[in-house]
Amino acid sequence: MTIKAVTPRVVEPPASLGMGVSVYPSATAMVWQGEGHPHEAVAVPGVRLAPGDALVAIELATVCGSDVHTVLGHRSAPTPLVLGHEQVGRVIALGRGGAKTTDGRRVSIGERVVWSVAVPCGRCARCRRGLPQKCLNLQKYGHERMRRGWELSGGFATHTHILDGTPMVAVPDDLPAEILAPASCSTATVAAALEAASAIVPLDGALVLIAGAGMLGLTAAAMATEAGARVVVTDPVPERRQA
Ligand SMILES: [Zn+2]
Ligand SMILES: [Zn+2]
Repeated sequence: MTIKAVTPRVVEPPASLGMGVSVYPSATAMVWQGEGHPHEAVAVPGVRLAPGDALVAIELATVCGSDVHTVLGHRSAPTPLVLGHEQVGRVIALGRGGAKTTDGRRVSIGERVVWSVAVPCGRCARCRRGLPQKCLNLQKYGHERMRRGWELSGGFATHTHILDGTPMVAVPDDLPAEILAPASCSTATVAAALEAASAIVPLDGALVLIAGAGMLGLTAAAMATEAGARVVVTDPVPERRQA
């Protein structure tokens, strides 16, 4: 994606939404207006953090296949929209009471973090039944119409506004950003698939067939190999097979 130097539009959230954080130079989101339109730079100089929220400066965001499908019009999405849900960054501000990682530890300013695509409400019937991924009030980074109070809702921005209740993990400084950014979607998808598969057949010593050598296939090949499996990958495209 080419980001041209443009004069951004400015949006500011209302004061009623929480603790005000000013970002200088202003946070900027690349906003997608719909099929056939270029991404537009929108300045978000002020963010309102509710208790438990965090503001993260993005280090790197990767483009998921679903971002590409959305822009090409292959799947419907509400607009205006800040795409991107695979990213890594550093916490620069915290809402009242601070935010916590999934292991219950308080997040510090400056800490490097990755987080889940989905934010479950934690209160609805499905959340209470242990199905947060099917939450009735589910919100997803990079998938929600840009709205007042949650302008920085995707990874294709200088900063992302992390909502209270988002599963978040601190990550070490010596891991490359290129490895960390896809953790919330591609890597998580493959990890879940291999976890389900290994519940049936242990991966160590197993023969694993992977159909498709895209991002998911390559990740699955690496993770299954690491777990001791013999891996066969099929793909009709020679360059992909080579990768
Ligand atoms: Zn994705
Ligand atoms: Zn819920």
